[in-house]
Amino acid sequence: MTDHANGMPRTIGEIASYHAHVYYDPATSRGEAERLRHWIGERFLVTLGRWHDVKVGPHDQAMYQVAFARELFPTLVPWLMLNHGSLSVLVHPNTVNPRRDHLADPLWIGTPLAVHGDKLPEEAEMEQAPAPNTAPTLRP
Ligand code: ZN
Repeated sequence: MTDHANGMPRTIGEIASYHAHVYYDPATSRGEAERLRHWIGERFLVTLGRWHDVKVGPHDQAMYQVAFARELFPTLVPWLMLNHGSLSVLVHPNTVNPRRDHLADPLWIGTPLAVHGDKLPEEAEMEQAPAPNTAPTLRP
């Protein structure tokens, strides 16, 4: 990495959006994952991704993705800290380097899991938050 070669810190302007990946075990914790997904949809204007009951991409367990805008971080992330139950959640920024976003720079809520960085590119377009698909009616 050469990002710090000039002695300057990176700026948060690099972050286009965030993902939270909610992991579950299809055999034992899918119900808990369904409940959490429902709660999120009731409270946050986010994009709930589809269910992946089998491993996909760099992820080592079944999961679904929650894509969200930068502005939601200070409410959604603390709320997930309090409500993830037994589930592991990976929260990562979306910059131009997905591999670094997932491996070096994320935070984990709950028990950290393996992430297979070799399946991720080191260069990509910045991923803006997609159009939300929830219609929240409750406060977090
Ligand atoms: Zn992601």
